[in-house]
Amino acid sequence: MEKENLWLTYEAEQLEGLEKVCKDYRDFLDAGKTERECVSEIIRQAEARGYRNLYAAERLVPGDKVYVSWMEKSIALFHIGTDNLEDGMNILGAHIDSPRLDLKQNPLYEESGLAYFDTHYYGGIKKYQWVTVPLAIHGVIVRKDGTKEVVSIGEKDTDPIFAVTDLLVHLSSKQLEKKASVVVEGENLDILIGSRPLKGEEKDAAAAQIVKLLEEIYHIEKEDLMSAELEVVPAGKARECGLDRSMIMAYGQDDRICAYTSLAAMLDTETVTRTACCILVDKEEIGSVGATGMKSRFFENAVAELYDKVGGYTELKLRRTLAHSTMISSDVSAAYDPNYADVYDKKSSCFFGKGPVFNKHTGSRGKGGSNDANAEYIAKLRKVFGDNKVGFQMAELGRIDAGGGGTIAFILAEYGMEVIDGGVAILCMHAPWEIASKADVYEAYRGYRAFLKDMK
Ligand code: MN
Ligand code: MN
Repeated sequence: MEKENLWLTYEAEQLEGLEKVCKDYRDFLDAGKTERECVSEIIRQAEARGYRNLYAAERLVPGDKVYVSWMEKSIALFHIGTDNLEDGMNILGAHIDSPRLDLKQNPLYEESGLAYFDTHYYGGIKKYQWVTVPLAIHGVIVRKDGTKEVVSIGEKDTDPIFAVTDLLVHLSSKQLEKKASVVVEGENLDILIGSRPLKGEEKDAAAAQIVKLLEEIYHIEKEDLMSAELEVVPAGKARECGLDRSMIMAYGQDDRICAYTSLAAMLDTETVTRTACCILVDKEEIGSVGATGMKSRFFENAVAELYDKVGGYTELKLRRTLAHSTMISSDVSAAYDPNYADVYDKKSSCFFGKGPVFNKHTGSRGKGGSNDANAEYIAKLRKVFGDNKVGFQMAELGRIDAGGGGTIAFILAEYGMEVIDGGVAILCMHAPWEIASKADVYEAYRGYRAFLKDMK
């Protein structure tokens, strides 16, 4: 069934709402270029809307709003409903980590008078896309005494930026014969950090200059970089894209486009019957591992703490709460790209301007590694979205056996809850700059609000 493009359906009032949500979304992207920055921005926004730290709260009653942040990289928000907690929650989940280059733990070196930071890429990237683009460094450096420096260099107009060099085309005849997967190799994704020798240094004087600057600016020693998490990301702000300004081009839209629309829906929801929950997690891009990834128990523990403060906690009730919950596990989908038509099945693709996308399943090689949502649950979602006049589309990621990918959906499904993959379609997924439709951002936000309000 051919769906009408959302832009043709919006009245003036909705277009105003769309522009506001998209402006706030761009501001969120600019404030959160790492999972840590996202968590602090989410806490800032949540506290301004009446959310409190769960651990600081006493007894919780319906209407109360609390959050739990885990190691400053993952966060869960809860809005207590009037229904019993053990009847389940309506959960919106997304991830806030994005592909990037991480600094190695002994990053600084010098070669032929040029100083570099050595990196190790994080998540799935096409390495050749990361050369000769302006880069910024974000993160933290922690000293042995536990004190911490927060770093962000390359975003302000007056900041310096960084870059990975590429070979000039004039000398590239051999390089251009290579396969795209090795034309730029991971070990060569080192960022150029300096070229000005420090006076009086005999060896590695350019690197010595960098050490001196780190001492001056951050009061850290070179060894402190061992206990740092410094992430190299594309420098610059999220921008409107297209002469008609119908799109957004920005770094990290996978998956902050779903994280932001889920968060905004959560914060803008005034009353709920079923308890509403929003989980925004780290480490999805490397398999949801670690203490801050979805496979960690932090979420289950947070729900146990929540139940304890609501009153009447038992292990059985906790299990019931999770098993009776319903979830939209939101992650980006691959929007149909006419330039690469051969990797898509057009009949099962998603398109710009047609609303958020549901994927019954993700995975690869015969749905391997996916969650597979139940037909009964999909029918309920169709009703909630339909009753609230929210546009949506059903799609798969690309042609069968063209590739594939996973999400956090299957991890939550292990509790026995109803989970579906959903999200927003984007172009150039995992590229330094990704493109999305503003109409889809707005419609996802509307859909998530409808889900929190009406899913039973
Ligand atoms: Mn993703
Ligand atoms: Mn991804």
